[in-house]
Amino acid sequence: MKSKIHYTKPSITELEVSYATDAARNGWGEKCYDYIHKFEEKFKEFTGAKFAIATSSCTGALHMGLAALGVQAGDEVILAETNWIASASPITYLGAKPIFVDVLEDTWCIDPAKVQAAITPRTKAIIAVHIYGNVCDMDKLLAIGEKYGIPVIEDAAEAIGSRWHGKHAGTVGKFGTFSFHGTKTLTTGEGGMFITNDPALYEKVLTLSNHGRASGQTKQFWPDEIGFKYKMSNIQAAIGYGQMERIHELVSRKREIFDYYARALADTPGLSMNPENINTQNGYWMPTVIFDVSTGITREKLQQRFNEENIDARVFFHPLSSLPMFEDRPGNTIAWDIPNRAINLPSYHDITDVELERVIQVLKSLIQ
Ligand SMILES: *Cc1c(COP(=O)(O)O)cnc(C)c1O
Repeated sequence: MKSKIHYTKPSITELEVSYATDAARNGWGEKCYDYIHKFEEKFKEFTGAKFAIATSSCTGALHMGLAALGVQAGDEVILAETNWIASASPITYLGAKPIFVDVLEDTWCIDPAKVQAAITPRTKAIIAVHIYGNVCDMDKLLAIGEKYGIPVIEDAAEAIGSRWHGKHAGTVGKFGTFSFHGTKTLTTGEGGMFITNDPALYEKVLTLSNHGRASGQTKQFWPDEIGFKYKMSNIQAAIGYGQMERIHELVSRKREIFDYYARALADTPGLSMNPENINTQNGYWMPTVIFDVSTGITREKLQQRFNEENIDARVFFHPLSSLPMFEDRPGNTIAWDIPNRAINLPSYHDITDVELERVIQVLKSLIQ
């Protein structure tokens, strides 16, 4: 059997290990927030966000951000049908309803025209998810948000290193969220980040993130409201801080891997990959190939061939409305169709050229 090629795997060096060791050894008592604050500072510096709050997950960051916007029972939040469920679950935690709309054919991100058509008096937010690092059409989404007075939020969990008109993903909308799960470009094992440029929203989420204790509250053990507990630990933040010192390296390697695939497949007909549209930069978290309908290549065939080669390629996100807890929306035809003929390619930091060639050979052999 050929050696296994993983689809993602973190890149952890002696740097991250040394910071984590320091945090485990010394980061207690009055130092118990030091790495958290250092990680947040680095993150702000890299993204250009004014405010940042490290969290235990992206899901938690989204939950708090939506709560801070006042999303509640009976409200609606619009997001793309093509998504990981983590973008939708926090909406339901608040008793609100996720409204799934179709995606664009080229970016696989939310279709602004479909957003506009889905707006009702109950719409409280629009979530733009930069899927696989591909950047949403923020120009149109922001214009819609402005027209109807509805905040546009960015779930940038997959988009570290992605930019829109030079601005980092997550800094364009009302707030942005990130994930540092072990499969993401930057990891802390589990973890996330909430960022915003809005001082009032920042204060609100800071209070919520601290069990409802306002930062100015001088009384001890005195929450002013019911909050949440989605904090990151200092040890995780130490790993994140080390990863931030290497963030340019981590992102450029993702771009390099994508370019390797793209160049190798440039002359192969019948397939397309993640786009990088004008005025955007793609962090290429997940290089993905979509086969044209005319090729007859299916998800099942792709999975079978990659399994045979011991390559851990992953299926494209299922349309969320097709999951058992939601009501089917097969009218979102693009989001329902693409996963049938698409695959995510391995792209971990230390993948070798020999391994990349093995993946490429599988794709080429399928086309012939
Ligand atoms: C990974 C991911 C999340 C979830 O992040 P967690 O840190 O696991 O909560 C949310 N949204 C998107 C788009 C993701 O890819």
